[in-house]
Amino acid sequence: MIYDAIIIGKGPAGISCAIYTTRANLKTLVIGKSDSMLLKADKIENYYGFVEPVSGKELLETGVEQALRLGAEIVEDEVVSIEKTDNFKVTGVNGEYEAKTVLIATGAPVVRVPVKNLDRFEGSGVSYCTTCDGFFYRNKKVGVLGYTDYAIHEAIDLSVFTKDITLYTNNTPLNVSENLKESLDKFKINTSKIKELQGQDRIEEIVFDDGSKESIEGLFIAYGSASSSSFALKMGIATEGKSIIVNDKMETNIPGLFAAGDCTGVFKQVAVAVGQGALASRQMNDYIRKMRKDG
Ligand SMILES: Cc1cc2nc3c(=O)[nH]c(=O)nc-3n(C[C@H](O)[C@H](O)[C@H](O)COP(=O)(O)OP(=O)(O)OC[C@H]3O[C@@H](n4cnc5c(N)ncnc54)[C@H](O)[C@@H]3O)c2cc1C
Repeated sequence: MIYDAIIIGKGPAGISCAIYTTRANLKTLVIGKSDSMLLKADKIENYYGFVEPVSGKELLETGVEQALRLGAEIVEDEVVSIEKTDNFKVTGVNGEYEAKTVLIATGAPVVRVPVKNLDRFEGSGVSYCTTCDGFFYRNKKVGVLGYTDYAIHEAIDLSVFTKDITLYTNNTPLNVSENLKESLDKFKINTSKIKELQGQDRIEEIVFDDGSKESIEGLFIAYGSASSSSFALKMGIATEGKSIIVNDKMETNIPGLFAAGDCTGVFKQVAVAVGQGALASRQMNDYIRKMRKDG
């Protein structure tokens, strides 16, 4: 099944876009996890149309119900990669999906990696992108720092280049889906708490809290979930800091790929996310119409 529109993220930006694309008769799939920023907002009283404050949870759930009523398909999945071929191939932990256009509406990236000296070795052995840098580590001893499905996915990507891969969870329990558990056999797993990274010009060692050390030639960061920043790095999406750059039509620099909401770094508010989602839907519709005309 090739969708007209895949929307990644089921917060206000993604759901707003889905409401519009579905009503414009575009075959729409929303892929998301249930952890929108909105769930942290106890009371919202600056969103249009509510006399009394409304909880973020209620606003979110009502939006999802509205999109479902209009015919959007919504699946619970974590997207770990997006690739542009003729269409867009979107890989989730639970499946693969294909669409003519994609909206990234994954919210603001919140990756905080609690490891000393990580930034010192960025570009000198520490990488955030297996697609970009995996090739440089052929047959080398590498690590993936992470504990979720995303980390396993990155380790699987790396296994094309090297078999010596250790998953460092930094004292966080592994949180891996059933269907990825069998892949864990391919990797070494180290659950110790990391004290710091060491090296001269490049990363050379991981030092643990208990004083032990492990030598390493490359360390790939996949801590927590895949975010808009990780998609941007892998696909060459233009960014400013951690935000995706969009024009006033919510287009990124990649044709057919749009972004909306907190991931664009514009005034992080529900009203803005909803507005940007609506704007993106219109351009996705135009893009598909043009594709049909040209095709
Ligand atoms: C404590 C707090 C209070 C706030 N109060 C207000 C307020 O009073 N008024 C106001 O207007 N705004 C408020 N906000 C801001 C508001 O919540 C955000 O601006 C809004 O939720 C942004 O919407 P979004 O759709 O861009 O992102 P989000 O709501 O963060 O949704 C992102 C979605 O993407 C999903 N996702 C992320 N990564 C992936 C992945 N790899 N694969 C699949 N899905 C993924 C998430 O699970 C989520 O469903 C508040 C925020 C916080 C934290």
